[in-house]
Amino acid sequence: MKTTVSSIEGSRQGLFINGEFVAPKNGNYIASYDPTTGERWYDLAEADADDVAAAVAAANAAFRNPAWRRMTQTDRGALVRKLAELVRANADTLAEIETRDNGKLLKETWAQMRSMPDSYHYFAGMADKLQGDTIPINRADTLNINLREPLGVVGMITPWNSPLMLLTGTLAPCLAIGNTVVIKPSEHATASTLALAELIHEAGFPAGVVNVVTGTGKSAGEALTRHPGVAKYVFTGSTATGRRIAGNAAQNLVPCSMELGGKSPHVVFGDVEIEHAVNGVVSGVFAAAGQTCVAGSRCFVEASIYDKFIDALIARTARIRVGLPTVDDTDIGPLALADQLSKVEGYVASGVKEGAKVAAGGRRPQKEGLSSGGWYYEPTVMVDAQNDMGFMRDEIFGPVVGVMPFRDEAEMIALANDSHYGLASGIWTKDIDRALRFANQIEAGTVWVNTYRSASFMSANGGFKESGYGRRGGFEVMHEFSRLKNVIIDYSGAMQDPFVIRLK
Ligand code: NDP
Repeated sequence: MKTTVSSIEGSRQGLFINGEFVAPKNGNYIASYDPTTGERWYDLAEADADDVAAAVAAANAAFRNPAWRRMTQTDRGALVRKLAELVRANADTLAEIETRDNGKLLKETWAQMRSMPDSYHYFAGMADKLQGDTIPINRADTLNINLREPLGVVGMITPWNSPLMLLTGTLAPCLAIGNTVVIKPSEHATASTLALAELIHEAGFPAGVVNVVTGTGKSAGEALTRHPGVAKYVFTGSTATGRRIAGNAAQNLVPCSMELGGKSPHVVFGDVEIEHAVNGVVSGVFAAAGQTCVAGSRCFVEASIYDKFIDALIARTARIRVGLPTVDDTDIGPLALADQLSKVEGYVASGVKEGAKVAAGGRRPQKEGLSSGGWYYEPTVMVDAQNDMGFMRDEIFGPVVGVMPFRDEAEMIALANDSHYGLASGIWTKDIDRALRFANQIEAGTVWVNTYRSASFMSANGGFKESGYGRRGGFEVMHEFSRLKNVIIDYSGAMQDPFVIRLK
């Protein structure tokens, strides 16, 4: 891969359409900023409806191109594996690019990039295992079969928090099945997706199989989600934007897979080692500066240990090191966008107005070596929280946890489920019966017991309620990106006269 952080610095990045990097037809570019300084670091092409139409046309042509359509499953799997190995060979550079783009800790992007090849291999292995079935039918000499086939062009709208890792879980299976793809990354973090496009080209995918259109959600995103040439959308981002995209897609009767926001409950019972539970809560909400959809941002603690737990949580939070994302001893880097910083500050202020108290953090860090233009915020613990306060209801997407006590299981379940979201949940207890009752009653797509944010591409993940629908990961995803076609074959060799049937 030729692209590196320094080759991107100050450059103009093009669109990737039909196997090549091209300038946007309108000649427009917008700036992308470095979260550690707030300064511009490159310009990205601002695609409009014309560029999007060209990308969708290329993807549709590629879908019908025999070089892709008639490629055997084994060869398609091999191509996805080749991409996996290119990602492995360039993992360090991809991590550096993404960290520079969104401010995520380098050790975290490294871990993500290093796990991605396994995910590509996992889905590549399914290319030749996706199969239809044979169904009985009430007729002699007739074969009734279901074929599984690719959908066509899949439009993927990805967020800025973990662009490549979140893309992998849908791109890899889509390619393994034989779909073609148009990706619209967030304007706030496009560089790693464009670098991946270079690897896709290098791997030898036919032109048009994968296309990347950069630009704003308002322009490129809207154009993509209104385009009649797309067979399915995959979206990860806010519930508000998900609603809008689903509305656009509905006009063309196109299905979507939506991974949206969350306000996940993290429950701690009195029978656990407090230190372990504190570590779980801290990593569940403060990792990636809270910019994860599954962040356990509502913490419910059994009243019997509430005071002890709060003391331990405050002490642990105070030891969290906010700093440059590229430095090894940093625990939390900056937020990815200036808007995120204002959003976090706004929710903490409104929480205080509503009666909650800041027990730790609650401000921008004053630390030598950090640029004052960077979008840093201290990890923040809010106590005296109530479930109906704004910061406890809305997704903040920042390092803020609200904590409140509960008396018994019934109250805890009522509080935990009292949210319009239903993405993830966690419980700390040594009582297996209680953990299973929680798993059974909680309205969330993922339940963690005595751990949090532990995930695998081998299991299906997704949301309930306003956290979305559709699943990614596991074999389930192969059904999300393929469709059934029913084929009925008469092998009697003697088609009857259709008018010979009589009432008696
Ligand atoms: P959005 O949901 O608006 O953005 C996510 C993606 O959607 C981006 O690629 C964005 O492009 C694109 N997009 C925006 N508007 C449209 C549109 N009308 N049509 C098609 N695509 C569109 O999130 P924000 O970046 O504005 O962040 C706001 C909040 O969303 C966060 O504070 C957080 O709460 C939540 N969020 C949740 C994520 C998750 O993982 N569940 C991920 C990201 C955000 P562009 O960025 O170029 O506008």
